[in-house]
Amino acid sequence: MNEPFLLSNLIELQEIDNKIYKIENEKKSSESVVRLMSLESDFKELTEKITIQKNEIQNYYKEKDTISFSRTSISQKIFDIKTKLEDKSLDSNDLLNYTKQKESNESQLSQLDTKLNILNRNNQDELDEIKKLTESLNEVKSDLIEISKLVKNEWQMIDEKLSVFESEKKELISTFPQKVQELYDDLKSRGVDVIAAYRLENNQCGCCGVDLTSSELDSIFDTEFQQCPYCGGILV
Ligand SMILES: [Zn+2]
Repeated sequence: MNEPFLLSNLIELQEIDNKIYKIENEKKSSESVVRLMSLESDFKELTEKITIQKNEIQNYYKEKDTISFSRTSISQKIFDIKTKLEDKSLDSNDLLNYTKQKESNESQLSQLDTKLNILNRNNQDELDEIKKLTESLNEVKSDLIEISKLVKNEWQMIDEKLSVFESEKKELISTFPQKVQELYDDLKSRGVDVIAAYRLENNQCGCCGVDLTSSELDSIFDTEFQQCPYCGGILV
């Protein structure tokens, strides 16, 4: 035996929808989500600042690379000469030659180090700033990883809660007559958030809050689904 359909059943459905809205809202605006969004914006801002700073001292990086390249090659030469010097069968001329070569390369290496020190010193302010920005960026990165995990867990729990209400809602709707189900779908697809509510005091629509005249109320209650002419919601 089917029980007769009462419009107040739609209020029950609305209550489930309200819970769903509340949960969906929590999902978008929880403390961790707000924190996540703020960290993402910090990350973007810091990355941009670092890029700008690095661009400003492009020449520094070029020179540093050149010095570093020469250093590697000279260090290799010194290493090779040292190996040769270990040979016990060297005659005194070779020994002198290699020793001189070694000293000359070592002196070049020391000049390069001096050059690098001067280069660093001349760009110290910019380098300090980049270092500071990079440290902040790393902090933001690790906070981002932490908070992303938190949000992921939070959303998983919220989705589980949501699915409980979604199935409760589906079950309830399935007990409604076909044309009520169609009306509900129609209102939802038109973006009506409150599809059913009791009439408020002072003859206001419980769905949209508009003041209704008594003749409007009369014509609403004359129709099968008692819909508000302003919002389409069902007035119970
Ligand atoms: Zn209304």
